[in-house]
Amino acid sequence: MKTIYMDHAATTAMSKTALEEMLPYFAEEYGNPSAVYSYGQTGKNAIEKCRERIAKCIGAFKTEIYFTSGGTESDNWAIRSACRLRKNKGKHIISTEIEHNAVRKTLEQLMEDGYEVTFLKPDQTGQITAEQLEAAIRDDTVLISIMMANNVVGTILDIQSLEAVARKHRILFHTDAVQAVGHIPIEVHKLGVDFLSVSAHKFNGPKGVGVLYCRIPTRLPAYLTGGGQEKEGRSGTENVPGIVGMTRALEEQTERMQSNMEYLYALSKRMDEKVLNIPGVLKTGDPEKRLPGLCSYVVEGIAHSVLLVNEMNTYGICISSGSACSAASQEASHVLVSLGIEKQLAGNSIRISLGMDNTEEDVDYAASMLEAAINKIRTEQASRAPRLEGRVADMAGGKEA
Ligand code: PLP
Repeated sequence: MKTIYMDHAATTAMSKTALEEMLPYFAEEYGNPSAVYSYGQTGKNAIEKCRERIAKCIGAFKTEIYFTSGGTESDNWAIRSACRLRKNKGKHIISTEIEHNAVRKTLEQLMEDGYEVTFLKPDQTGQITAEQLEAAIRDDTVLISIMMANNVVGTILDIQSLEAVARKHRILFHTDAVQAVGHIPIEVHKLGVDFLSVSAHKFNGPKGVGVLYCRIPTRLPAYLTGGGQEKEGRSGTENVPGIVGMTRALEEQTERMQSNMEYLYALSKRMDEKVLNIPGVLKTGDPEKRLPGLCSYVVEGIAHSVLLVNEMNTYGICISSGSACSAASQEASHVLVSLGIEKQLAGNSIRISLGMDNTEEDVDYAASMLEAAINKIRTEQASRAPRLEGRVADMAGGKEA
């Protein structure tokens, strides 16, 4: 059975050219970049070249690029750095109710250390307004952390206007751009943000590598102490192949951005047209400002969306449940609840994230199989409701991606 992968917001396949560019750094050019001899310096030079190439893709200076192990680490480093840099100013942070757990859990941990966090509530499309942000600012606000694009519903937030509020009040601004980088145009200097998080595996790069952009003159305080790599900020021998692969993948995505966006917007429009014809399926997120390939829905009349994800899997189609579901909890996604979707329905959300390897035929097939899956579950449910509820509880679900 052919697998149709439609979960590109969770992760993507490695670009073949990026993989090729990485390969020599595993077994041939494997010298430690901190070594003085030329064998190590080859790796060091590759890293510095990559810093320049990445900077070019997002409109930054080379000195503003720090390599990390991915989005989670970049979010952690940015948030904790801002707290340290402004420790004499106060202990108040502003964020939103729809952040990824990499931000949310970091903020929750800081709350245990005495920080107060205002979580702004978005409107039902996932947008936050500049007025809303400005009203939450206090004299002791040290950081504003607002994501650029939401991973569950795909809404793209207006970071430039939100950052303008932060700038007016001289507050540091971080944006988690993990779902946006490589998919929509980004010019960090135009945006004006102080920190921006990037993850390579979301744009056909390797897993376990990312970037934290930090606007000069801000200097990142040491996060991992040791040998002093990444300008003393993040010690540890660099992931040279990963950095090289990420760079090539981002260049590729940047070169093809416009045509990729056009293709994916058209494909997701086709998906919407088909899926929204199924009775009891509703769209979530911002219909206008959304990521190119991300389609997000809630489905009425089923016990939990994990049943649908599982049923689609039996047809070889990979989609994601927008809800955190584990054997222990069948929690509805905090994002959907925050958008005002009633809790039971929020537990019935699905995310179909399309990529450049998907075709119109894939979309038509997936939409028709989704209809079949919904009908099957609704029918089964009507006749054997208690057993189905047991099945939901038994299905161990994934982590937020
Ligand atoms: N932030 C957002 C919005 C994400 O979607 C993800 C990954 O799913 C992350 C952060 C974490 O990125 P990584 O998997 O590189 O740690």
